Amino acid sequence: MNYFHYVDNKLWCENIPVAEVAKAVGTPFYLYSHRTLERHFKVFDSAFDDIPHIICFSAKANSNAAILKIFINEGSGMDIVSGGELYRVLKAGADSRKIVYSGVGKREEEIRYALESDILMFNVESSQELEVINACAGKMDRVARISLRVNPDVDPMTHPHISTGMKENKFGINIEKSLDEYRHARKLDHIEIIGVDCHIGSQITEISPFIDALDRLKELISSLRNEGISIKYLDLGGGLGITYDNETPPHPQDYAKAIMDRIRDIDCTFIFEPGRVIVGNAGILISEVLYTKTNADKRFVVVDAGMNDLARPSLYDSYHKIQPVELKERADILSDVVGPICESSDYIARGRVIPELERGELIAVMSAGAYGFSMSSNYNSRPRSPEVLVRGGEFYVIRSGENQADLTRGENIPDFLQ
Ligand SMILES: *Cc1c(COP(=O)(O)O)cnc(C)c1O
Repeated sequence: MNYFHYVDNKLWCENIPVAEVAKAVGTPFYLYSHRTLERHFKVFDSAFDDIPHIICFSAKANSNAAILKIFINEGSGMDIVSGGELYRVLKAGADSRKIVYSGVGKREEEIRYALESDILMFNVESSQELEVINACAGKMDRVARISLRVNPDVDPMTHPHISTGMKENKFGINIEKSLDEYRHARKLDHIEIIGVDCHIGSQITEISPFIDALDRLKELISSLRNEGISIKYLDLGGGLGITYDNETPPHPQDYAKAIMDRIRDIDCTFIFEPGRVIVGNAGILISEVLYTKTNADKRFVVVDAGMNDLARPSLYDSYHKIQPVELKERADILSDVVGPICESSDYIARGRVIPELERGELIAVMSAGAYGFSMSSNYNSRPRSPEVLVRGGEFYVIRSGENQADLTRGENIPDFLQ
């Protein structure tokens, strides 16, 4: 459910025609619906009303300060994966005691920053990392609260590039070895074990992989408790999928119910780290058609948004619906929608039957709110596009588009080249 819809054949976001925003900010740009963001968060959060829980929004899915603040205002914590994200979420006003820190490659300075900030816990991904956290905490005369991120070896049945909980993935600690690792962790002076964590992948459209992972974590928790290791938090990660094309992911309420049915007997606070399911369908990318042409019987629609703006199609071959901002009577035609970047992998849609688009018109690339702007880059020296938030009949530029000076910021030509 989102608030992008057609009124008299024109695409609107909440109470504003998208074309009006385009006129004001120029293309390409990301457009988010406040009402959709808030609604998605509330639906997910309230689905777990019956159990003690913290929603830690996964900041990497969309890390714009205004968007983070919407969730923070609703009581959200944050799942972060870098010191940069910690800086961002704190700046947006996140409660540090609701921050969990995941990631396989935490640097010492990032660990110190997280300790200083007194975050809820580190989700530790290796034995070496555990030692480093213990040493850093020792030097700072602190105790680090931790969970081990275990790898439960379940197949999330998603794209291989976004599966993270199979034994061949780089993430977490093999669940068989984790018990020993916990035994070791309890001996460390500056480590306090408080939880168990996993995150098995992204864009998961079935409930069963989550349940399989949960069952393995439950077993681990009971082994740990038998040894007197107290576990207060069970963090099940994120990963719930959304509809891009014709996927039928479980509704958050069904996901929540399936989980809650199995955890009545474990006394824990539950942590969830949703990203995509909250923001994915709350944002779209608006782009203008620059040119159309036919090469070897194939129609190419060249638009002004490229893989630097939206990397997902070239990275994961992912599907985003393409919709004209203005609907007209016209034929559908087999097309490739491509960007201006000098790479053959720079496309938004390939071999897609879509309305015959014309030079100068606007298109909406749907479901672009997650891993859209946050993955964007300056490749081909393209300034990053603005981000706009609509609330009712008003719109707000929540990130200005970059300019040319931004492109060379920080670069220096050494004297010997002058
Ligand atoms: C990326 C990530 C998430 C969010 O995943 P979604 O599929 O967007 O819900 C949650 N936890 C961790 C550790 C992640 O790396």
